[in-house]
Amino acid sequence: MRLVIPAGLPRRRTAAVGVALLLGWLSGLGSGPSGGGQDSATAATGPAARPGPASVRSTPSPPPAPAPEIDCRTAKCVALTFDDGPGPYTTKLLGMLAAHHAKATFFLIGGSIRGREAVVRRELAEGHAIGDHTWSHPQLSTLSDGAIRSQLVRTLGEIRRATGGTTGIMRPPYGATNRRVGVVTRGLGLAQILWSVDTNDWRDRNSGIVAHRAISWAHRNDIILMHDIHPTTVNAVPRILDGLSKRGFTFVTIPELFAGRPLKPGRAYLDGG
Ligand SMILES: [Zn+2]
Repeated sequence: MRLVIPAGLPRRRTAAVGVALLLGWLSGLGSGPSGGGQDSATAATGPAARPGPASVRSTPSPPPAPAPEIDCRTAKCVALTFDDGPGPYTTKLLGMLAAHHAKATFFLIGGSIRGREAVVRRELAEGHAIGDHTWSHPQLSTLSDGAIRSQLVRTLGEIRRATGGTTGIMRPPYGATNRRVGVVTRGLGLAQILWSVDTNDWRDRNSGIVAHRAISWAHRNDIILMHDIHPTTVNAVPRILDGLSKRGFTFVTIPELFAGRPLKPGRAYLDGG
């Protein structure tokens, strides 16, 4: 989707927007920022908090995996992100990612979860992260504070219903954010995750073009925007995984990208710094 850059938000790779901050979560699902979100209290999933026998670790199930081995301060990381699902092609995509042992992040439409709860649970079970992409994909910057909050809270409720957990990250549709969106997301304990590479896959429904852009435009710690509701995008993913692997990239979730530099609720991030 088209990125609407709010006034004052630099387009990419700007330390002022991106980089410092907090947050101890290990995945989009799980413990939100400490004390930040209304849902965080019951969702703590740090290694020490996670219940269950050792066998759980060999058969991942939500809540997700322990702290990543990957340190993106030294590794050449890239975060693939897929918006607007879950959809009819998401399961196929999950198979592609699993075949490559690649992790990604899914920004979910709350209104699309019903009937696909198992897909969302599988995303988490396989080590991916999920985030809130609103209930019905409005341009949040045009809504009242109450409507912004409702879009996000309703989706958090649906994520809770489907998975038993919550998330500490969101992505504003169209990248349309402003100060009020920042205030509301801060109150909900949600960091705003934008992107630094836009494949424009929603416009150019051509797997070759999408793959070429993702592979050739990516730099270290970039966040790449795609949409798993388009079959052309999903069909581009094996090429993207191969091409970026050959360039030495490791595929990480958004929480992994920021591991050790916790995300701050309300703040907007364009990349991993
Ligand atoms: Zn979207």
